[in-house]
Amino acid sequence: MAVAKAPKVGGEIVGYCTKCRMMLNHRIGAMVGTKAVRVICLTCGSEHNYRARAPGETAERAASAGRGNSAAARATRAEIAEKKERDREAEWAKAITGKGVHDFKKYTIATVFAAGELVRHTKFGDGVVTNVIDANKIEVLFKEDTKTLAHAIGVN
Ligand SMILES: [Zn+2]
Repeated sequence: MAVAKAPKVGGEIVGYCTKCRMMLNHRIGAMVGTKAVRVICLTCGSEHNYRARAPGETAERAASAGRGNSAAARATRAEIAEKKERDREAEWAKAITGKGVHDFKKYTIATVFAAGELVRHTKFGDGVVTNVIDANKIEVLFKEDTKTLAHAIGVN
């Protein structure tokens, strides 16, 4: 933009003219701090609020266009991770909701668990066995995370 670095009242600035509907030179009529707020269009002579951009061209869009796809890809990955996390929590809540104290088996490494059984763990809280990996390993869904835990140790 052919604009002086420090705009001042009476100076010229390129902005969007709401009457001409295009980016044009304006004379600055009023400023707040270092920002032009009221401008007079040098083309049509109308006075209006200063607009640095044409309508629809937001700073955000201009910035993301400049950065390319990586930011968008990052946002999508974050969204997927967030959704996965929400799904996991929903699955956990569904398994736990409405269950009484006696529906949970207290977790110890010596206890034998089966898929679908509810677990009460002293550190991780309430969970549900989602998978029996092998004779001594189970996968348990807790509110915060899915954990692989030992089970049936010393039983067989
Ligand atoms: Zn104008």
